[in-house]
Amino acid sequence: MKRNVLKFGGTSVGSFEKIKNIACYLKDRVEEGEQLVVVVSAMGKTTDELLANVSSITQSPNEQDLAVLLTTGEQQAISYLSIILNDLGVKSKPLTGYQAGIETVGHHLKSKISKINTKLFEQLFVTYDVLIVAGFQGFNTENEITTLGRGGSDTTAVALAAAHGCPCEIYTDVAGVYSTDPRLFPKAKRLQVVSYEEMMEMSALGSGVLVSRSVEIAKNYNIPIYIGKTLSEEKGTWVMSTIEMLEKKAVTGVAIDKDMIHVTLNYPEYDTHLLDELFINLEQEEVNVDMISQITNNEGLQLSFTMKDTEEHQIQKIFFHLKQYYPELYFKIENQFVKVSVIGSGMRDITGVASKVFRTLIESDIPFYQVTTSEISISYVVNVENGDKAVQLLCERFEL
Ligand code: ADP
Ligand code: ASP
Ligand code: MG
Repeated sequence: MKRNVLKFGGTSVGSFEKIKNIACYLKDRVEEGEQLVVVVSAMGKTTDELLANVSSITQSPNEQDLAVLLTTGEQQAISYLSIILNDLGVKSKPLTGYQAGIETVGHHLKSKISKINTKLFEQLFVTYDVLIVAGFQGFNTENEITTLGRGGSDTTAVALAAAHGCPCEIYTDVAGVYSTDPRLFPKAKRLQVVSYEEMMEMSALGSGVLVSRSVEIAKNYNIPIYIGKTLSEEKGTWVMSTIEMLEKKAVTGVAIDKDMIHVTLNYPEYDTHLLDELFINLEQEEVNVDMISQITNNEGLQLSFTMKDTEEHQIQKIFFHLKQYYPELYFKIENQFVKVSVIGSGMRDITGVASKVFRTLIESDIPFYQVTTSEISISYVVNVENGDKAVQLLCERFEL
């Protein structure tokens, strides 16, 4: 029997009406002879609402408690979908991450999937045609509930597809991957195919359409991902291994990351113990730092980096800890910046991309503060009020 993994995101399951329509679609596919593993996210903005509830109680919730709470969003969604499917006469069973045997390792709120028990699925498919798995959740070796980080249902879906050795269909609220967020630049073109490498870079640099961890898994297991619009005939995008194109474009996409903070640390002298302790603490708290730059001169040490704004609490904690031992330490956390990046594997062979970007920003009076490059991307930190404009100008400049 043909088996497929499908995933529906939060907006797609945002109302009972939408869940009913998805159920009817799944019923048709089952009648065509497919066995389906269906991953769903929490309905609409449920996860944001749960997080807002917690913020109104405390700024430093216990992470295990928070993981247990956040997973309830997906648990509701799988139950509703299964209730409707069974009502339609489709043999369906909802599974939490724990029931689905999704083992994870690492931090409770950004765990990584380490193992999936596929035997269990084989047994269940003897009785059921649709197995609905709660996205974004698993459990660790201590039998504690964990989550996979924001947007983690994509990871659940791709990991399940890898475990079952089948393609993964991801359905969302846009018709695929565009050169940039189509909500920001409506003229953006939809990409028919995008390589794992470029998609990973786009995701890591802020294109929220797919979480980068999910693309990493797809690449490692060579699982093609199809991204399309939920219940639409519109063609979507395939994310798959590199395709050799005769005419390569230097730039495939432009991404913007608005969920970042810029951190600056000053100390009157270059103190390696301080730096050592800072990085040990960052590692312990599992804080990912990015775009690091350091200046050492006769005024002392200045270290700057960018990081995810969701980890601001951890960085505050680290600085307050360090300040006890280094009273002259000064730090600043700023959130008025965004990171704009141009991405394209063609950059390896085609020169002049950086200078085009620099000139575009300079000609438009958009100041930039930090710049980093990878083999296939260039990123610029700009003021938040210039972010959207920079994306639009760069899309026009590179004809995206
Ligand atoms: P879901 O809830 O289905 O997981 P997300 O909100 O996580 O959906 O991802 C879909 C959104 O990603 C789109 O609504 C779009 O605004 C945004 N997005 C950002 N960059 C891109 C891009 N390059 N192509 C398509 N969508 C993008
Ligand atoms: N519900 C989770 C989130 O909002 C996971 C997901 O939607 O993929 O981040
Ligand atoms: Mg998503």
